[in-house]
Amino acid sequence: RSNSASTCPILTKFQKDCATPTPYLRNVANAIADDMRDGLAVEGGGDLEMILTFVDALPSGNEEGLFYALDLGGTNFRVRSVQLGGKKERVLATESEQISISQKLMIGTSEELFGFIASKLASFVAKEKPGRCLLEEGRKRELGFTFSFPVKQTSIDSGTLSKWTKGFKVSGMEGKNVVACLNEAMEAHGLDMRVSALVNDGVGTLAGARYWDEDVMVGVILGTGTNACYVEQKHAIPKLRSKSSSGTTIINTEWGGFSKILPQTIFDLEMDETSLNPGEHLYEKMISGMYLGEIVRRVLLHMCETSDLFGHSTPAKLSTPLALRTEHLCKMQEDNTDDLRDVGSILYDFLDVEANMNARRRVVEVCDTVVKRGGRLAGAGIVAILEKIEKDTKRMGSGKRTVVAMDGALYEKYPQYRQYMQDALVELLGHKLASHVAIKHTKDVSGLGAALLAATNSIY
Ligand code: ADP
Repeated sequence: RSNSASTCPILTKFQKDCATPTPYLRNVANAIADDMRDGLAVEGGGDLEMILTFVDALPSGNEEGLFYALDLGGTNFRVRSVQLGGKKERVLATESEQISISQKLMIGTSEELFGFIASKLASFVAKEKPGRCLLEEGRKRELGFTFSFPVKQTSIDSGTLSKWTKGFKVSGMEGKNVVACLNEAMEAHGLDMRVSALVNDGVGTLAGARYWDEDVMVGVILGTGTNACYVEQKHAIPKLRSKSSSGTTIINTEWGGFSKILPQTIFDLEMDETSLNPGEHLYEKMISGMYLGEIVRRVLLHMCETSDLFGHSTPAKLSTPLALRTEHLCKMQEDNTDDLRDVGSILYDFLDVEANMNARRRVVEVCDTVVKRGGRLAGAGIVAILEKIEKDTKRMGSGKRTVVAMDGALYEKYPQYRQYMQDALVELLGHKLASHVAIKHTKDVSGLGAALLAATNSIY
């Protein structure tokens, strides 16, 4: 054990391994752009899946009537109704409700899960105040269904589940049409409702944000996981073998899958090896909220084992996967006290570590290193998408405002992450183009977006 004083070779090496100077970041942006192009050329052509969403028409603002949204993607689902009043009046009324899904339902049968959802939808509808919610005579209620699991979409209102993730393991569903499952359950519950649009939450965010701002071209999620969707020209999608190649459509990049030329350290490698999908989604593992805290914990554990920075023994908690969360990194970086009191108590409370001032400073530097790399790499991804859009439309070059709609708690709550992302954007795009780009935090618009896409794709 050595090196508790002023220099810390582990930290220095870690910072060096994580570094993303501008030329390196440029290579990352180019590599992401290459994989985007390859993914658009043929199915499975690149790390990015570049999924066709079948969303060709984004909300215009003229939508009218009553529409619903259902969001299923984790331990809760959310139902929303939206009464749309057209261009002038916009959203006349909206109601929403969040319902938790029990562990039992997450690993039960599809009849149990969708039966439960349909029954809750039915009681949500039953609670509607008459007069406020207007449904036209003879029409079924229409629903936009946000289903945040890997789906192979086959049309705007159908898609088969590839595999369950996030703790779900509902039997007999893989390979089945998730829309049919929900439609059948709603019918069984006597609910006069149908799914008009199956969307993912990135698409929902893009659509919801576009409703309020017609310059929105990209939707990005930076929360537990990450994803990005954008407006693409159909003629630039070779794998889209449709008769009409004019107009635009939304591409769901699934950019978390990008896995080339990233600055992987031994800590990333170790975390990846113990993950559910080793070797895959390396970009997501560097930029999203689920992993940032865990990378820092692994660095601190290593420091603890190889120096006496945190005293002489290794606390069990410091060896516990996921003991440190991204929220904690954010709190530690926010600590303005002279003695870094908050850093000290987070380390003590969550990792059982008693850290002196020197150690506290080091810890903050580790957090900053991981967050800087994450924010800058996320920025490079956004640049890859913006440059792809620019190539086909020249909108920024001609001075047109271009908006990236952003949702997710990582972006929302981590100021340093946001700043690093913005810095990378300007470094790569240059001040001139970047001055036409606005990154806009659009919280929780994905439900509205799903309801709007139900309206845009209404069968009536
Ligand atoms: P989702 O799980 O659907 O992505 P959120 O957008 O709420 O939902 O993201 C939650 C994630 O955001 C958490 O897993 C965490 O990684 C990150 N996060 C939450 N709160 C904070 C915070 N205060 N600071 C930094 N990151 C946070």
